[in-house]
Amino acid sequence: NTTNDVVLSIQCAHRSFKTPEGGQVHALRGVDLDIFENEFVTLLGPSGCGKTTLLRCISGFERLDSGDIAIGGESMARRPAHKRPVNTVFQSYALFPHMTVLQNIGYGLEAAGVGRRERIARSEEALEMVGLGDMGQRRPEQLSGGQQQRVALARAIVNRPRLLLLDEPLSALDRNLRQQMQIELKRLQHELGIAFVFVTHDQEEALTMSDRIAIFNGGRIEQLASPREIYDHPASEFVARFIGESNLFSGKIADATLISSTGNPLPLCSKQLDLRNFDNGRQVTAVIRPEHLHLCAPEAPQAQLNARITEVIFLGTEYQLICTLNDQSLIKVRVTDVNTPLSVGQNIGLSYAPEQLHLIAGSTPLRGA
Ligand code: ATP
Repeated sequence: NTTNDVVLSIQCAHRSFKTPEGGQVHALRGVDLDIFENEFVTLLGPSGCGKTTLLRCISGFERLDSGDIAIGGESMARRPAHKRPVNTVFQSYALFPHMTVLQNIGYGLEAAGVGRRERIARSEEALEMVGLGDMGQRRPEQLSGGQQQRVALARAIVNRPRLLLLDEPLSALDRNLRQQMQIELKRLQHELGIAFVFVTHDQEEALTMSDRIAIFNGGRIEQLASPREIYDHPASEFVARFIGESNLFSGKIADATLISSTGNPLPLCSKQLDLRNFDNGRQVTAVIRPEHLHLCAPEAPQAQLNARITEVIFLGTEYQLICTLNDQSLIKVRVTDVNTPLSVGQNIGLSYAPEQLHLIAGSTPLRGA
C-alpha cells in the first residue's frame, strides 16, 4: 500500500571510475529513479551493471560525478553517510563478535547518544520484529547464518531509517532459508512501513518480493515497472531475455502478420498493432513465452509454426521442450500435461493466441531462443 509521497528521488545520476589499466568504467550513466514511501523496489541486472554503485551513492559511501539524490525532499549532496536517514544490510553480516546480540543491535543508538533504558527497549523490540526475541544474550558465533542475518536486519531497523538498502542480503543463505527470509522481509517491510531498495541477481526473488523492479543494463535503467508488467510487456529485448524464458522473432509487419525467417508468417494481434501504431513494413521483435505455445499435430489447421523436438527436459510438474524451427533457430516450449507423449526427433505443430505475442519496436537480426 504505497502512498504517493516520494521518499527517494534520484536525478540523472552519473558515476565513472578510472581503472588501473588507465581506462574508464561508466558505472552509472544517467539514472533517474523515484521511490515512494512504503515501497519495495528491486534493482535487478547482470553483474557489473551498476546496482551496488547506486546503493553506495544513496548511502553516501560513494559520491556522484553529477546528478542528485534527495531523501524526503532534501538533497544529500553535502550530507556525509552517517548523517543520512538510511541504513544498509549487506550480504556479509559484519556483526561485532565480542558483543552480545542486543549490544550489536544497540551499538548505533549508543553512538547516537540514546540512553541505556531506551536503547535496550528499542533493541529488544527490533529483535522481536525479526523473530529472535529470546536470543539477545547470545554472541554472533552462537547463531546460524540465517539468525545472524536477522540480527543484522534488526540492527539496521532499530533507528527507524526512512529507507533501508539491502545489498544481496539473502545470497549467502541456502534455498529453503532464502525463501523463508523472502517472506519475512516482506512482512517486516509491511510492518515497518518504510521503503526498501533491494539489490539482487536473482530474478525469481525480484518477481516475488517487489512492488516495482528496476532492470539495470550497463549503468542505465532499461525498465522500471511492476513484476507483472515487466514479464508481460518487456520494454526491450534485453528485458525480455533477462526476465523469464522467452522466444524472440524479428521481422517486418505485413497485413497483421510478422514475416520472419522462421518459415511461417506469424499472426499478430491487430488490436495491439493499432494501439501501438505499428504499420505495414515496420521492423519489430515479437516475444512469446514458452508457456503460451501449445502443441498440435504438424498438419493441424491451427499450427502457426512447425518444429522438431530437439530436447525434452522433465521439470517435475511440466516438461520443457527445446525445438528446432525451419530456419534452424531454437524455440522453447512448456508442456504442462506430463502425460503428453513426447520424443526427440518428433515433428510438431505449435499454436498461440496472437494477443500473447508481445511486440517490441525496432529489430536486431534473429537469434536463437
Ligand atoms: P554485481 O552484481 O557483480 O555486484 P553491480 O551491478 O553491483 O555488480 P557495480 O559493483 O556497481 O556493479 O559496478 C559497476 C561497474 O563499476 C563495474 O564495471 C565495476 O567493475 C566498476 N567499479 C565499481 N566500483 C569501482 C571502483 N571503486 N573502481 C573502479 N571500478 C569500479
